[in-house]
Order: sequence, then C-alpha cells, then structure tokens
Amino acid sequence: MALIVQKYGGTSVGSPERIKNVARRVAKFKAQGHQVVVAVSAMSGETNRLIALAKEIQAQPDPRELDVVVSTGEQVTIGLLAMALQAEGLKAKSYTGDQVKILTDSAHTKARILSIDEQNIRTDLANDYVVVVAGFQGVDEHGNITTLGRGGSDTTGVALAAALNADECQIYTDVDGVYTTDPRVVPEARRLKSITFEEMLEMASLGSKVLQIRSVEFAGKYKVKLRVLSSFLEEPGEGTLITFEENNKMEQAIISGIAFNRDEAKITVLGVPDKPGIAYQILGPVADANIDVDMIIQNVGTDGSTDFSFTVNRTDFAKTMDILKNQVQGHIGARAVVGDSKTAKVSVVGVGMRSHVGIASQMFRTLAEEGINIQMISTSEIKISVVIDEKYLELAVRVLHKAFDLDQEDA
Ligand code: ADP
Ligand code: ASP
Ligand code: MG
Repeated sequence: MALIVQKYGGTSVGSPERIKNVARRVAKFKAQGHQVVVAVSAMSGETNRLIALAKEIQAQPDPRELDVVVSTGEQVTIGLLAMALQAEGLKAKSYTGDQVKILTDSAHTKARILSIDEQNIRTDLANDYVVVVAGFQGVDEHGNITTLGRGGSDTTGVALAAALNADECQIYTDVDGVYTTDPRVVPEARRLKSITFEEMLEMASLGSKVLQIRSVEFAGKYKVKLRVLSSFLEEPGEGTLITFEENNKMEQAIISGIAFNRDEAKITVLGVPDKPGIAYQILGPVADANIDVDMIIQNVGTDGSTDFSFTVNRTDFAKTMDILKNQVQGHIGARAVVGDSKTAKVSVVGVGMRSHVGIASQMFRTLAEEGINIQMISTSEIKISVVIDEKYLELAVRVLHKAFDLDQEDA
C-alpha cells in the first residue's frame, strides 16, 4: 500500500464527464489498496473568467478581494469531484485550503505555503476516505483567503505530498509528461522519461509552465518523488519522473530541453554615468514598486558613460517605463530611456553543459543562420538564455530543437 497524492489540472477537470473520469482513475488506485489524496484546479477557463469578472468591477482589483473571488473556482471542483467519487462507491471528503489548513504568508495573489496541518487528512485516510483538497489556495494567519499564483495547484499537490510524506506525487495534465519543449509549439518534441530536478527548476523558471516553479522548489527541498502524467490516457504509462541523480539518465543528451517565455519586455537606459551606485539608482525604484527584474546587462563604459538594459514581465512594462522616465532618468542624468515590449526569451537547458564546451556558440550560430538577432544573453552553469524579437520566437525554438538533436527520430 502506498500513499499517493494526485493533482489534476484545469483541462483534466474541465467538464462533468472529465471529473467522472478522474473519479474512475482514483477508484482504480483505491482498488489496488492505495491511499489517495487529490488536489484539483478550477475547471479550465474558470480562473480567467473570475479574474475578468473582478476587473469589470475594479480595473486593478483589490488583492485580498481578488483572492476571495478566484479561490471559488477550486471550491466548485472539490465538491464535484467528491460527489463523483461517492458515485463510484468510495468514501470521499472535500477540503478548502482554509479547512485543511494550508497556512500561507499574506502576499495575496502570490502567497507562499508556510505549513500544512495534515492531521485531519491522516485521520480520514485511516478511515478509508479519499481526500480532495482545493489547489491554489490557502489561508493566512489572520484568516484571510490567499492564492498561490497562477499554476499554483501544482504547488498544493507537492506541498501535500511533502507534508504527508507521500510515496509519490503525480501531476496529471493534458500532456503525457515533460517534453523537450512545449509540444504545442514543436510537434517533434519528445517526452523525457526523466529530467533532473535542477533542469526542471530551470525549465519552469524560464517559462515551461507545465509545472509551477514553486512546486519544483518544494519537491527539491522535501525530496518528493514527482511525476508528470496524462489524465487523458487510460493507461498513462510512466510519464516523466523528476529525478535527483544525473547519472541514471539513459538519454544522456547534453541539452535536455528548450524553454521560452513570450512575456519578456526589454528596457534600456542610455547614456548612464559609469560610476558606483548607478545600478542601484536604476533598479531600486523598480524593486520598490514590487516589479521583478529578470535579465540585467550593463555594458563596459566608454567616455564615462554606459548603457544599462534589463527585462521585466510584459505586464509590468508600462509601469517600469513610467518609473524610469519620471523618477530615474533626470535624477541620474541619463540620456534616454527606450523600451521594447515585443521581445521573448529562449533558453537551452541541460546539466550536460557542465562537461561540454561549445553549446553557446552552437546556439548563436543556429540563430545567426536564420537571421535572428540576439538582443541580450545570459548564462548559468546549466542554461543559456537569449532575448530576441518576439516574432522569431517559434522559429528560434524549432531550429534550436533540431540543432541540439532533440527532434523525435521518426518525426
Ligand atoms: P494544467 O491545467 O494541467 O496545470 P498547464 O496548462 O498548466 O496544465 O500545463 C500543461 C501545458 O504545459 C501543456 O499543455 C503544454 O502546452 C505546456 N508546456 C510547456 N512546456 C512544456 C514542456 N516542456 N513539456 C510539456 N508541456 C509543456
Ligand atoms: N486555477 C489556477 C490557475 O488557473 C491554479 C491552477 O490551475 O493551478 O492558475
Ligand atoms: Mg498548470
């Protein structure tokens, strides 16, 4: 007997029929003698609908009240799934985040899980219940409902698995595992049998939204056995296992995958005095406005001045330009502030980079051959990222996928 946490995403619970399918899958695991805890998302499209509704009332919804509204999506799913499980003849009980108690900090719309009180769940499991928990939501120390950021149900699933010391956390979604890149963009993408935790962390942080980055962080921290599987296949097979060892990979590719992010916007402050404190004077006010900065590049100064570029999420572009033009440019004596919100980031990721040279030059050559201009570059030990014009994004991903031998052989 094993204790398994299963998480089902929006598409997987997108209709009553699909919810019944989930219940049938859970029933199979129960029939094999396992204990099952299920975390679910809102039905597909529901979270977007709720956010749009809130914006009709308030252009910039109050974060506390927005969480009250958007958390309802998951509450509907848990009730429906518990009913579907009962219809399968199982004992089932649903819990909201508050009822469990999934305690979070108070950062509305992007809260972090602090602890999970798993006692009631354990008692229910011991009494043969299937426990269904609302993903994406928690409660802070003052009793306010919080949510965990888009895609946050993955994190609920993994955090539950960690708290319960589960044998495995299975993330059921609309693809049958983690692919070398998004299979919706590159049909030749291949499913990976396994990917190291480190690589998955990079992929998730660089834009592969198949797993929310915090869920991967949790899995790493608490050594949760994490697997991504299809909820649509009767027999989902082995999906993709996130592993902690690098040397058990049969595939041994240098590059494991290509991640991309369409939401990158680039800003350059031109003619910045080249002296101590400038980076802080540019980015301090941006940070104060709670805007995340991603890539940062400062050129080598000539004639006492230099250019300073960085990227932010596209949704923060206008606000950042405003801050720079009105608070920073005059203050530091910069020549101009220019920006481009139609940029995208493409990254190649792989632990094999540690032991191989020439990956960067191969990447740059491949892009050059297609006439794709690289606007910014950043690297770490296991990834290389470039910022390019958004209109070349799909082409760049496809040619890199091929150049690094990731295309399926029979495609
Ligand atoms: P869910 O609603 O189940 O959480 P998501 O839409 O959040 O599903 O995540 C699954 C989607 O992630 C897939 O449909 C796929 O388009 C996308 N995706 C992006 N990168 C990858 C990748 N490397 N491997 C698999 N899927 C990916
Ligand atoms: N329903 C939430 C969202 O759409 C959480 C999730 O699906 O993981 O982001
Ligand atoms: Mg998701």
